[in-house]
Amino acid sequence: MGTKGVVASSAALGILLQQGIGDTIRISLTPEPGGDRTTEVKVAQELLQTMGFRQFLPVVAACPGCGRTTSTTFQTTAKDIQDHLSHSMPEWKERYPGVEGLSVAVMGCIVNGPGESKHANIGISLPGTGETPAAPVFVDGEKVATLRGADVADQFKVMVADYIERKFGRGQKTAAE
Ligand code: SF4
Repeated sequence: MGTKGVVASSAALGILLQQGIGDTIRISLTPEPGGDRTTEVKVAQELLQTMGFRQFLPVVAACPGCGRTTSTTFQTTAKDIQDHLSHSMPEWKERYPGVEGLSVAVMGCIVNGPGESKHANIGISLPGTGETPAAPVFVDGEKVATLRGADVADQFKVMVADYIERKFGRGQKTAAE
């Protein structure tokens, strides 16, 4: 059950997959009381995506937080963005072929956040302890904006949507043609 089952299954299957053994995987988890079995599928997808074999969902790279973070803003923002991407994917997969390859970074400070943000397609560095309340946004390695205010997450979601339209929208047009 729980994390023990996820870790045990991932460790065992990860070795086999790394050696190129097998064409089909099955994660076996005992559901929580009242839980469903979709976790098994999600873990299998995460394992394949983490190992670089398949892509199912955009990757959201979020920092763990440290002494530079004094609030849970980076956690709530990262979860907000991740939930938004997961929720939007059924529609986006139809409209934007390849969007599952998108990488997004949500980092907790502007000291170390920009480095990770620059490696993502689009990334944001939220202000950490004692930092100016401003959040620089990087697109394809370049700083393109600085967001401010209580609705930074919503502003960033708009920028992510714009980026997806620009980067993957042509595929939609091509597919329709
Ligand atoms: S990005 Fe900043 S806040 Fe996040 S773990 Fe690194 S140093 Fe800490």
